[in-house]
Amino acid sequence: MGVNINTKLVHGYKGYDPQTGAVSFPIYQSATFRHPGLNQSTGYDYSRLQNPTREELEKTIALLENGKHGLAFSSGMATVSAILKLFSPKDHIIVSDDLYGGTYRIFEEIYKKYGLEFSFVDTECIKNIEESIKPNTAAIFVETPSNPMMKITDLRAVAELAKSRGILTIVDNTFLTPYYQRPLELGIDIVLHSGTKYLAGHNDTLAGLIVVSDDEIAEKLRLIQKSEGAVLSPFDSWLVLRGIKTLGVRLDRQQYNAQKIANWLKTHDKVEKVYYAGLPENPGYEVLCKQASGFGAMISFHVKDEKLVESLLERLKVFIFAESLGGVESLITYPVAQTHQAIPPHIRERLGVNEKLLRISVGIEDADDLIQDLEQAMR
Ligand SMILES: *Cc1c(COP(=O)(O)O)cnc(C)c1O
Repeated sequence: MGVNINTKLVHGYKGYDPQTGAVSFPIYQSATFRHPGLNQSTGYDYSRLQNPTREELEKTIALLENGKHGLAFSSGMATVSAILKLFSPKDHIIVSDDLYGGTYRIFEEIYKKYGLEFSFVDTECIKNIEESIKPNTAAIFVETPSNPMMKITDLRAVAELAKSRGILTIVDNTFLTPYYQRPLELGIDIVLHSGTKYLAGHNDTLAGLIVVSDDEIAEKLRLIQKSEGAVLSPFDSWLVLRGIKTLGVRLDRQQYNAQKIANWLKTHDKVEKVYYAGLPENPGYEVLCKQASGFGAMISFHVKDEKLVESLLERLKVFIFAESLGGVESLITYPVAQTHQAIPPHIRERLGVNEKLLRISVGIEDADDLIQDLEQAMR
């Protein structure tokens, strides 16, 4: 039966434990599994290869992204690392220039020395991607909306361009989640998530997820996953499964709050500019409306005077000054010193990730309380 995403979120893949009927899918906290006999298996042999709780999460995320295969890793960065192992020395990868700092760091500081080549370009403009393609270009890696400047990349256009040249497309879908955006449906090959963020949703665990539809890519990723062993534990898999049940209601509320806060920030005399994917003046607004059903709840803004930043961060009472995003608690981040420190100053400056930029992840608190908190901290 084809059901809507809200129903899929609540029930997951199996929905309950077929053995016992347990409605909360059990945590199979076992490293190994007894073989019924020689050359026989229950389907589970050893938890690095597969574990029932992890499998339920993997099948659930595949279902939500409308893909065929899901894989769960111990963090979002472990998924990026696994995906990069699909490539060989001398392969060239085109990457969105505005992206999560840790992703930039793993490319530049870890994988470059294994012979992978990276070009960081503004993928909001398809022409930039096209002009960066070289004979050895093997993949395009996109974050949309981008972090922290909320730039939008046209995923259908990227998929079309890449397909005609035999290039793989990879999308980090952490900010919008399958609730709002499903890149595989737009022709993208590989979707990844930091499950730490909206999917788990409570700032209580790290997790990473990959979804693909192609059997061959899935098989290669499985080999990497089981060989390297950066798998998600049964307990953490359960936490993410539990988080996913409320993803829809959380995101609806977070987006409602974010819209209110973004509009309020726009009118504030100490704020220079607001970056939110849901503002019609955001350059990518129309493209986003064509490929996603929501805008998410991440907002960045430039204050006019950088001297305001320190006191603002100290005075906030409801917003928590911490890096990360996507949880029920509203967080405020100072990208230049936290999430984007790994990115070289000249790139940061070009993007606008400077001393005046703050990023907020809007939670599910009362929107007026959040606005009041910002207001008192800015005065
Ligand atoms: C946090 C984040 C990551 C990294 O995920 P971890 O779970 O922290 O390893 C990757 N991409 C984006 C967009 C993120 O926000």
